[in-house]
Amino acid sequence: MRIEENYSLLTHNTFRLPVKTRWFMEYDNEEELGRILRDEYFQECISLHIGCGSNLLFINDYRGVILHSRIKGIRLMEENEQTATLRIGAAERWDDVVAYAVSKGWGGIENLSHIPGEAGAAAIQNIGAYGVEIQDVIERVEACGQLSFGKRIFTKDECQYGYRYSFFKNEQNDPYIVTHIVIRLNKKPVYTLQYGRLAETLARWPVLTPARVRDAVIAIRKEKLPDPNQTGNAGSFFTNPFITRRHFDKLTAQYPGIPCYPAGGDKVKIPAAWLIEQCGLKGKNHGQVGVYHKHALALVNLGDACGREIALMAESIRSAVKDRFDIELTPEVKYID
Ligand SMILES: Cc1cc2nc3c(=O)[nH]c(=O)nc-3n(C[C@H](O)[C@H](O)[C@H](O)COP(=O)(O)OP(=O)(O)OC[C@H]3O[C@@H](n4cnc5c(N)ncnc54)[C@H](O)[C@@H]3O)c2cc1C
Repeated sequence: MRIEENYSLLTHNTFRLPVKTRWFMEYDNEEELGRILRDEYFQECISLHIGCGSNLLFINDYRGVILHSRIKGIRLMEENEQTATLRIGAAERWDDVVAYAVSKGWGGIENLSHIPGEAGAAAIQNIGAYGVEIQDVIERVEACGQLSFGKRIFTKDECQYGYRYSFFKNEQNDPYIVTHIVIRLNKKPVYTLQYGRLAETLARWPVLTPARVRDAVIAIRKEKLPDPNQTGNAGSFFTNPFITRRHFDKLTAQYPGIPCYPAGGDKVKIPAAWLIEQCGLKGKNHGQVGVYHKHALALVNLGDACGREIALMAESIRSAVKDRFDIELTPEVKYID
């Protein structure tokens, strides 16, 4: 176990904000986690469990305890002719999991290549890209109750997955800390290529493999998204909003090119990046914060931004989109105050 006081979170958030936490605690196994959770001093503090901080916006220094897991490992649990089932420690880098699966030729997560963050958080966030979400491969999630201290295994249904949503994100539910995830991969991969420029990028390959799809996804993402190692950012700042068909039809009359994806029932999903672009904000900077010039959904730290400045920029984007389209954008990034 590692415990630090007044610890810098600069390398623990991809916006690269130089915030500090009063306490930083890293545990190596479930027993150590249990000891922290039972500790009376810990119970009096506010606390937050983080992964790589690639979806967090720290507004201020953190006054409580930041928890971080060091539970790693990718273990093959079951294998048959069709599938391979892996149990993965929550602190394993998600992209290392994808690289491992692809090296074995197992399909299911190649479209989720190059997404920053850890495996535990990936299951909490229900990460998604290019028509695939982690819920498509999740078998179960192992977690420890922060209030009950007990271990609980969540079936996929109990995770209540939705678009960038799971049981773990609902603050009305008891808090749980994810220790391991279990995913099932396909030995006879079926590829999802109809999103973005994937099919076009892969057209020159007569035979597809998970590795080729991964390479294509990485190439497209590198072209489009800022690299957090060079420019602080947290990927898509807002989720794509859902609106009613009626609202959509009204907007189509005014904006005939408005893109949309059917979202079931009476709803359609609109790309938030398109809405922001239409407001003329793509590539615009304000102080130390910018709207990335290649992707309007990414807010970037141009050097010395603070969390409050980024939040203000996000607010001005939200009100521009609301005024123009009567659509409320919801941050995908979690604000930590
Ligand atoms: C350049 C870039 C590109 C991105 N592209 C995508 C994309 O294509 N698709 C996508 O879905 N996301 C994307 N993201 C967002 C981000 O990578 C994901 O949300 C990722 O899963 C966050 O992982 P993390 O380890 O950084 O979690 P953090 O940001 O540290 O935490 C995220 C949430 O999970 C909680 N948490 C973390 N670990 C645990 C745990 N073990 N137990 C309990 N709670 C925990 C935290 O409290 C927080 O609520 C991108 C981000 C960046 C910077």
